[in-house]
Amino acid sequence: MRSKTTYITKNAQATKKLGEQIAKELKGGTLIALYGNLGSGKTTFVQGLAKGLGIKRRIISPTFIIVRSYERAKNNFYHIDLYRIDSDSNLSNIGIKEIINDEDNIVALEWAEKIKDFLPEDRIDIKFKYQEGDKREVAIVNYGSGK
Ligand code: ADP
Ligand code: MG
Repeated sequence: MRSKTTYITKNAQATKKLGEQIAKELKGGTLIALYGNLGSGKTTFVQGLAKGLGIKRRIISPTFIIVRSYERAKNNFYHIDLYRIDSDSNLSNIGIKEIINDEDNIVALEWAEKIKDFLPEDRIDIKFKYQEGDKREVAIVNYGSGK
């Protein structure tokens, strides 16, 4: 469990680094729910997360694809972006509920607020805020059960 929970990153590299560090603290499968406007740094953070998880493939914004999966020896990593999904759309059609409820998966979920009613209690919530220039506020507001 981290004591400090709100970070101001000065550039994209710093946001990636934070993702990389948090990846190293993850134990088992976890849902990391990411909130914040376009350009606030969610995908950049996920790039760091993936690096910290040992994923070599390049992480790109899955804006049109919604779900991308990255195989790992133990826990597969999923990057989901709900930007183009309506909050009331039928998520079971695209298997998102199954992915986030599988405790073996590590899932980074952009625009998590769109499905807040479906999110498991045990998750990490991270809120991104655009600040002036290249600064972004990254606030870890819920650190799950800390398992
Ligand atoms: P989102 O997924 O929230 O829409 P992205 O990570 O795709 O956001 O985009 C963030 C953009 O802002 C990128 O072009 C990135 O290079 C830039 N940027 C500038 N400063 C930062 C910072 N401190 N943290 C993250 N991204 C930053
Ligand atoms: Mg994004």
